[in-house]
Amino acid sequence: MMKKLCLKALTLTTAILAGALASHAETLLTDVTLVHIEDGSLSPDQSILIRDGFIAEIAPDLTASETADTINGDGGFVIPGLWDSHVHIFSTADEPDTALPLYLLNGVTGIRDMGALWPIAEQKALQARIAAGEVLGPRLILAGAWVDASPGSWPGMFLADTPAQAKSVVGQIAQEEWAAVKSYSMLDEATYLALADAATAQGLPLVGHIPERVALATAISAGQAGMEHFGRIPMACSRKEEQMLNDLRQAMNSGADLTRIFEIMAARNGIILRTWDENLCTGVLDTMAAANLHVSPTLVVADFYTGNWPSADAPRMQMIPAALREAWGKPDFRLAAMTDEVRALAQDSIALDRKTFAMAHAAGVPILASTDASFANPYPFHGFSLLDELDIYVEAGLSPREALFTATLAPARFFDLPDLDGTIAPGRHADLVVLDTNPLVSLATLRRPQAVIAAGRVLDRAALDALEENLLNAGK
Ligand SMILES: [Zn+2]
Repeated sequence: MMKKLCLKALTLTTAILAGALASHAETLLTDVTLVHIEDGSLSPDQSILIRDGFIAEIAPDLTASETADTINGDGGFVIPGLWDSHVHIFSTADEPDTALPLYLLNGVTGIRDMGALWPIAEQKALQARIAAGEVLGPRLILAGAWVDASPGSWPGMFLADTPAQAKSVVGQIAQEEWAAVKSYSMLDEATYLALADAATAQGLPLVGHIPERVALATAISAGQAGMEHFGRIPMACSRKEEQMLNDLRQAMNSGADLTRIFEIMAARNGIILRTWDENLCTGVLDTMAAANLHVSPTLVVADFYTGNWPSADAPRMQMIPAALREAWGKPDFRLAAMTDEVRALAQDSIALDRKTFAMAHAAGVPILASTDASFANPYPFHGFSLLDELDIYVEAGLSPREALFTATLAPARFFDLPDLDGTIAPGRHADLVVLDTNPLVSLATLRRPQAVIAAGRVLDRAALDALEENLLNAGK
């Protein structure tokens, strides 16, 4: 199905960083201020003792054993490692070689993969190598068991066209031990509802796209736990949501071709802008909050459609493979599907998305910072785009603390992993970022961490610079 797993560059990276990586049983990080994202409080003048990948102790004055590595935090600020809750790192054979170091460079120590072109066995093999410390990378959740109607929007998806097929597919997903079931756009409503039931029966969270023919309220009552992307929320805030859904249902029932289906979907933006209703929206958002439906907004993706692309010589462009840089510059099927109307309305649509986003946050809808970064999606970048996404949240009206919450506490709680809850405390995994200045004042400090600690392995600035250099060389 895919070329053999290629970890050449990763091995090289690992060799370069051998010094930094040598997993000392103990590391003492001194002279730091802890930043508590829950309430915005600070604990100054602390030391953190890290042992075997976990935070062992935190106190103003700690002494380590003689064999411990000591790192002077130099008055820096420590936050929990960041999560990007929607990425794809398995779309080409060598994508992890670039993606994993890019995440660490940007302080991202946890990612959730939401759909892969690699066989699950090979995804798990890489996940295990990261967990064992053989490969340097962020903690990895495999949640890409995407289920779509045939023929499937991407190669290798699970397919279900009937409720019975949905049930059997969920059985297979459970057997393969994915972290979740992911619904996709083209499922019909009866199959989607069966998928939700089967996921619940298996104890697996249902996350993913709300299918294009299913109302947001239906997804909420079906018990969907996480929704990917943001567009369906402004659509549910439109007085015409039901009509928009019906238009598509009728077209699909009468066997309309894909061009016609995309036309109908493209026309939604204009309708939403004309019929978005604040009162209706408040009700929708309250329902979502009450249902604890977590949203992975991926707002940064809009940059692709508006042509807000970095120049070819930008560092982030130079750190991806040359062939990919070239491919991203070429016309794309998603851009081709944009009508003149959609292009003309793009800025207004983005503004409405952000307004709705701020309302959602204020209403208590839980947000998981996310980007859709993937070699298969031009211009969201592994790592860098998560910081861009957080900046967008701040532009939309969140405080830096609230933005950081969506990338630390919120994902840790939602994923419910052992020994990891988005706080800095003894007994937790040592996934940390050391920053020069207080991120609650400005998130700009996230762009150049003093050190990144992933499962107890410390990458100081010199090690991060070496990673960067390595990526720049690989990108030549
Ligand atoms: Zn995605």
